[in-house]
Amino acid sequence: MVVTLDRRRKSRVARLARTLERHLGTPRQERRLPPPLSMLIATILSQNTSDKNSHRAYRELRRRFRTWHAVAAAHPASLRAAIRVGGMANQKGPRIQKVLKSIRDRYGRYSLEDLRAAPDEDVIELLTGLDGVGVKTAACVLLFSLGRDVFPVDTHVHRVCNRLGIVEACPTPEKTFLAMRGLVPKGKAYSLHTNMIRFGRSICRSASPACERCPLFDECVYPGKRRRSRTGLRTSGADHDFMLLDNVEA
Ligand code: SF4
Repeated sequence: MVVTLDRRRKSRVARLARTLERHLGTPRQERRLPPPLSMLIATILSQNTSDKNSHRAYRELRRRFRTWHAVAAAHPASLRAAIRVGGMANQKGPRIQKVLKSIRDRYGRYSLEDLRAAPDEDVIELLTGLDGVGVKTAACVLLFSLGRDVFPVDTHVHRVCNRLGIVEACPTPEKTFLAMRGLVPKGKAYSLHTNMIRFGRSICRSASPACERCPLFDECVYPGKRRRSRTGLRTSGADHDFMLLDNVEA
């Protein structure tokens, strides 16, 4: 029974991935991926802010401090000033310095290159053991830096998965992440993650979903979905919004 349910869910996710690729394109990952430590810090900076502002904060951080050692040793006020544009500088500054210190203590240097040889589970365990680093951040490092076929779940992905009924009543992105493991078709984590974020930003928005032009209308089980005002599908085209984690420089 459970096997049948899982199989049904897997084929729904595969269909969803195909539909989104048809409507939004097939995103391709860069060949050269940023170092895992750069990705980790960029992802911490991206928490609770827009991609554009966190990218500006990341660039300013790298401009003012040439090495991770310099960031770790920076005066807290200088660090806060560098990342202020990304918001929550009072929380993110100390968090970044704490994370850097833990990495230095563990590896004897400011680097996470050792993670390249570690299995996914070990990477998740190690990263989530750092103060202020959650499962989403760990999954982003795996996908966007280590090139693993891991599917991160942020608020957009979480909302879309629940509205479509792919996962059932998962109250948090962490729970949705666990429920989605094993459901994403092999080799499709990057494409599906990227397209779900585009879809969540442009169509299945949090407050006012554009159900009338949703290519997944018939699949959706969300009680708040709005009736179509016209028949037929209208594609939205790809949303070319800047996406931070595809633009992290070493
Ligand atoms: S029908 Fe509406 S609520 Fe459902 S997935 Fe599409 S946009 Fe989201």
